[in-house]
Amino acid sequence: MSNEAARSVAVPREGGVLHTPGFVDGHIHPDKTTWGSGWLSRRPAPELRDLISNDLQAQLAYTDSVEERAYALMRNAVKSGTMAMRAHVDVGTQIGLKNVHGVRAAAERLAPYLQVQIVAFPQFGLLSNPGTLELMEASLGEGADLVGGIDPQSLDGDLHAHLDAVFGLARRHGRDLDIHLHDMGAGALAQLREIARRTVSEGMQGRVTIGHAFALCDTAEPDLPRTLDVMAEAGMWMATCALGADPVPVLDLLERHGVRVALGSDGVRDSWSPFGTGSMVDRMHLLGYRTGALTDAELERCLRLATTGGAELVGARDVLGFTGGNQHRVEFAAASGPELVVNRPEPLRVVRDGRTVQL
Ligand SMILES: [Zn+2]
Repeated sequence: MSNEAARSVAVPREGGVLHTPGFVDGHIHPDKTTWGSGWLSRRPAPELRDLISNDLQAQLAYTDSVEERAYALMRNAVKSGTMAMRAHVDVGTQIGLKNVHGVRAAAERLAPYLQVQIVAFPQFGLLSNPGTLELMEASLGEGADLVGGIDPQSLDGDLHAHLDAVFGLARRHGRDLDIHLHDMGAGALAQLREIARRTVSEGMQGRVTIGHAFALCDTAEPDLPRTLDVMAEAGMWMATCALGADPVPVLDLLERHGVRVALGSDGVRDSWSPFGTGSMVDRMHLLGYRTGALTDAELERCLRLATTGGAELVGARDVLGFTGGNQHRVEFAAASGPELVVNRPEPLRVVRDGRTVQL
């Protein structure tokens, strides 16, 4: 057996069946989805602000509840082998806490099969949307687990005030942080270094994640290596979603610098995108495709990020690995991990606590 095969998280069994650990979605937005509802026709959105404004209008027009739509998507994820997820859920004065309540209710219905972390996410602005900070704080007592943030400088208008607010909430309530950062370029890298500096000074090493972090995907930026180094020292995670035309990280580079990467779906069939299924089997295939995975080791890495890597992010490693005597696993018709990533079949069955999941 080669070293690569020895490191595989997938175990070939008799009869051409492959066992893998449970899958983990490290970044998904189940409150925004239309899954299980009618078709949503989307409007053009030249800029991020247009996407956000379309999102709010779409959400206000939905007739199916947050709980029903989120449940439909999360159920599909479970059937696809997902056993844990980190859900970014909108909190804002326009919608109050109903998205947090709806996703938490959906999660409770799926609790035997799915661990759900909810990030209170200020999609419509934090300090630029007065009243949101108070709602974020309230959400932490009503179903949200983590504190979220969004483009502190470009969208919210004040890097330091935004970071004071989110780090302050995290400190007061003892929660982890997960901040969306879409900004590109040297300015975005400077923001990441500031977040890393605060992470260390707050003693939050290993507990801060940056969603998307497109700035980390541009290898032409001279400040990239030192930014990756300070992020690694702060134990920060990057969550990528390998979406359509969005930049993807050079995984070898991040690995070399020690920045851990998680993988997620991002928005599924919402106003942001008509694509997505909530299946991490699909998502690891897209990551491999978008990053140009060629060797078995590169394909295996996609499987690892979608399973044990994500489990480490959400603190579910013991539950989802093989440490429990193979009580939790996903079974596929595949000969190996690399073949699984490329073929992306539906699971033959999903097993929790030794029993086949039936939904
Ligand atoms: Zn997101």
